[in-house]
Amino acid sequence: MTRATGKVDAMTVDSEGPLTEALGTDFFSVRRRFTEAQWDTFMAVRRYVDRVVSPAAPAAWDAAEMPWEVIRGLPDLGVVGDDIAGYGCPGHDPLTCGLVAMELARGDGSLATFHAVQSGLAMKSIAMLGSEEQKQEFLPAMARLDLVGAFGLTEPEHGSDSVSLESTARRDGDDWVLDGRKRWIGNGSIAGRTVVWARDTETNTVLGFLVDTSSPGYEAEVIPRKGSMRSVWQADLRLDGVRVPERDRLPGAESFKDTGRVLATTRGTCAWMALGHATAGYDAALRYALERQQFGKPLAAMQIVQERLVQMLAELTGMQLYCMQIAQLAEDDDLAPTIAGLAKMNNTRKARWVLSHARDLLGGNGILLDNHVVRHMADIESIHTFEGTETIQTLIVGREITGHSAFT
Ligand SMILES: Cc1cc2nc3c(=O)[nH]c(=O)nc-3n(C[C@H](O)[C@H](O)[C@H](O)COP(=O)(O)OP(=O)(O)OC[C@H]3O[C@@H](n4cnc5c(N)ncnc54)[C@H](O)[C@@H]3O)c2cc1C
Repeated sequence: MTRATGKVDAMTVDSEGPLTEALGTDFFSVRRRFTEAQWDTFMAVRRYVDRVVSPAAPAAWDAAEMPWEVIRGLPDLGVVGDDIAGYGCPGHDPLTCGLVAMELARGDGSLATFHAVQSGLAMKSIAMLGSEEQKQEFLPAMARLDLVGAFGLTEPEHGSDSVSLESTARRDGDDWVLDGRKRWIGNGSIAGRTVVWARDTETNTVLGFLVDTSSPGYEAEVIPRKGSMRSVWQADLRLDGVRVPERDRLPGAESFKDTGRVLATTRGTCAWMALGHATAGYDAALRYALERQQFGKPLAAMQIVQERLVQMLAELTGMQLYCMQIAQLAEDDDLAPTIAGLAKMNNTRKARWVLSHARDLLGGNGILLDNHVVRHMADIESIHTFEGTETIQTLIVGREITGHSAFT
């Protein structure tokens, strides 16, 4: 790939290179629009992914262990905290944030999800809704990963309709007392602070709390035996009379609308992550097709294989264009939640399709974790579901274009 054109020259693909190494696929040269600073961050993360993240990913996924050595490298890359300015955070522009999410997912969806929970859901809740004291106390430590954060919204009985959450917060003097259950909470068992969303028993409004996870009554149990995102842990949480001082309530969280504002900022990240997974699949399939010989010639020389690779490239290019435009709209401070939602819906759907073809083009080798594609194929299933399922995003966009809500 040349920096000037951003195009992959298949003749120069080193077919002996690892299947995970980026080919720099950019058929429509969207990367010409990158600034020097965007290139620098993009390439630094790409190098880290190719050299450190991807090689470690299969074993971590197989063992369902979090790759701490790899995770601890993120602060040195200057990516924890995304677009948050000040407080030791990088203050990246939206395109750079997207490129980081894409590259991390290209290497390891679990790592990208850890980063999305830390930099996105947890830190953004504080940056957008926290007091000045809370920002100063928590954000610098979170940017260094000295403090891990979690975001506790989903409940056993309320996933897509999290707006109906039942966890409660009762005021008791200078404290609040939290009770309830949460499910699927990323980092919930390893976080120092979990952002917990609970309903004020007096006003019925949803409030947000920075719960100290060492508080009595906070219990987290890792959800075992997952078949997707195995090397990032989600937990079932029990909150039994957890006391939270008023100073740890997020003052900017006045209703569920504020929860939604945080979620709206991270939805676009999912579209970028899906692009990263699809890129991993396409690059691996092209590399493999150039190397693997059947019937006396490379797979890449077969017409049907070429047609499939081109279809995959077409979908990938469409996903890239979606991502570039949501980054531009975010830069203009004009990214509507429904636009980010449509990008998430489109890109997770297309990534699933691209990855299923990539898996098939690797034949039997496609199901081996050491060849990565099947891991991406399993991991994309989580992105398809979390932060608003494909169906829910569809219904939200459907409501916007028809004026009829089909889900409430
Ligand atoms: C790996 C992973 C990580 C996660 N991390 C977090 C986290 O850190 N914090 C957190 O709070 N949550 C987290 N979640 C939870 C996630 O946001 C929910 O799983 C998601 O919102 C869907 O909820 P649900 O699983 O209860 O599915 P359900 O809401 O029960 O949906 C089941 C199916 O029904 C469909 N459906 C639902 N309502 C309608 C409707 N009205 N019309 C048509 N179809 C409908 C859905 O699209 C889906 O296909 C995570 C989930 C996963 C899998």
